[in-house]
Amino acid sequence: MKLVVDPSRCVGAGMCALIAPEYFDQDEEGRVEPLRTVDAIDESVRRAADSCPSGAVRVIVEPRPASDTDAEHSPRSPR
Ligand code: SF4
Repeated sequence: MKLVVDPSRCVGAGMCALIAPEYFDQDEEGRVEPLRTVDAIDESVRRAADSCPSGAVRVIVEPRPASDTDAEHSPRSPR
């Protein structure tokens, strides 16, 4: 998972800063300002992303890389 913040999409609703003030602030025009790098997505960041009306704060779930173990158990694995 990773956090993507796009201030150009922000409409200044302020939900992110209200829900997760340790991660988000707003500039003088109300646009989102990330306060720090997010190493692990915690519940407040997830709720901030869910509450953002413009999609400016998003949590992206990246596909898990296939491992040897997955390939062994995949029904499509060559035999
Ligand atoms: S919740 Fe979304 S629209 Fe509102 S300030 Fe935060 S990023 Fe901007």
